[in-house]
Amino acid sequence: MNSEERKYMDGERLHEECGVFGVYGTPEAANLCYYGLHSLQHRGQEGCGIVSTEGEELNYIKGPGLVNTVFNEQNLATLKGNIAVGQVLYTNAGGGKIGENIQPIVFHHGTGDFAISYNGKLVNAARLRKHLEDRGSLFLTSSDCELIANLIKKDAAQAHVDRIHSIIEALNMVEGAFAFLIMTPKRIYACRDKHGLKPLSLGRLSDGSWVVSSESCAFEVIGADFVRDVEPGEILSIDHHGIRSNHFSSFKHHHMCSMEYIYFARPDSDIDGCNVHTFRKESGKLLYKESPVEADIVIGVPDSSLSAAIGYAEASGIPYEMGLVKSKYVARTFIQPSQSMREKGVRMKLSAVRSIVGGKRVVMVDDSIVRGTTSKRIVRLLKDAGATEVHVRIASPAMPKPCYYGVDTSTEEELISAKKSVEEVAEYIGADSLAFLSTKALMASGNRKEMCMACFDGKYPTDLYQTDEDATLYKRYQIKA
Ligand code: SF4
Repeated sequence: MNSEERKYMDGERLHEECGVFGVYGTPEAANLCYYGLHSLQHRGQEGCGIVSTEGEELNYIKGPGLVNTVFNEQNLATLKGNIAVGQVLYTNAGGGKIGENIQPIVFHHGTGDFAISYNGKLVNAARLRKHLEDRGSLFLTSSDCELIANLIKKDAAQAHVDRIHSIIEALNMVEGAFAFLIMTPKRIYACRDKHGLKPLSLGRLSDGSWVVSSESCAFEVIGADFVRDVEPGEILSIDHHGIRSNHFSSFKHHHMCSMEYIYFARPDSDIDGCNVHTFRKESGKLLYKESPVEADIVIGVPDSSLSAAIGYAEASGIPYEMGLVKSKYVARTFIQPSQSMREKGVRMKLSAVRSIVGGKRVVMVDDSIVRGTTSKRIVRLLKDAGATEVHVRIASPAMPKPCYYGVDTSTEEELISAKKSVEEVAEYIGADSLAFLSTKALMASGNRKEMCMACFDGKYPTDLYQTDEDATLYKRYQIKA
């Protein structure tokens, strides 16, 4: 599926770039990994893989598609061993072919084989590639994963030295947003960026084995207890000694991507101590306080906006109703991204319930507006179904800036709030009124002191490496800035 096709089927909404899952210390490692990845499927549907080990070789299965299409009982049974890591892929940060970036990627080296499951985006990838190329490295893919592998491979003369030292050295060279797992035949290393931009949690099964996941929702399904979040700038080593913690940097912030709370993560996940549903519900309450409106019903755009809509309804006293229903079985195969087919695509995916919205003044709560085209179609659906007024309330601020940390917000030119005022956006989407949540209220929704809101306020927590020299390198390596 190319990006145009993807936009058509997914309603031009934002996309996350992967979920990782790891298991240490149980003979069921690969099976548990399968269930873990299944729970993280919302983070990536383009490909997936699992690598496992019995203590020597690393064996893997991976391929394009959903977890339950790549894996079956027979092939999972071949992934033996007490250690396994896996990944679900949304897309490749570098813009190369999907197939070459499906993970985990297994690397063979004289100092020991290892596999990487990665979620994130490095902002200094182009400079590091040049640095390594100048010293003789060759690259087969455009992925950050291969770049990190090159950074952490050990000097053969240092083969006796523990790999943690080369990992610490490598992580002090990279800049950006990441949460990834490195698996060797003996252990798993779980690493999180020092800005705390990407989530990564540690859990434990009743038999004492350890699990690591991009989101804590995956623990529930395998019967694991949440232990704690991996800290920003921390590397956990998980092996027969148990858990050991190293910090590769004393710089530490908790700039969690606010879109995790707003849109990406599952409502049953807890991220940095805050439940995602609770965050969204509170954002809906604050949205009402900031932007009340007289109406007959409140509805949410399924699925990620339902919690905020419940919050808005609760704070306002306006009844919450199910005015939009999402089809669970929209085919992801046939694609005709013409204008008329896009319209049908939205109707296939979402239906307005005429007997609920007809003759009503509706507050439609949505999580975000990116390009504006999806909101426009949903407002049209509601008005076609007889809604007399549609007041759009967005449970996040207007988004005028792109993301450089692996979230597919496209370029500034495609973001409607980069070009239009709130009134102009309201007119474009056909809403009777439109209001966004303030950045202050967004921060208050999770009771947080820090959070990345750069796509809303332009305050990026890292250097972005956007000089002319970087632009030339991005072009040369065909990787996305
Ligand atoms: S810029 Fe936006 S999407 Fe990107 S990490 Fe920050 S909050 Fe998340």
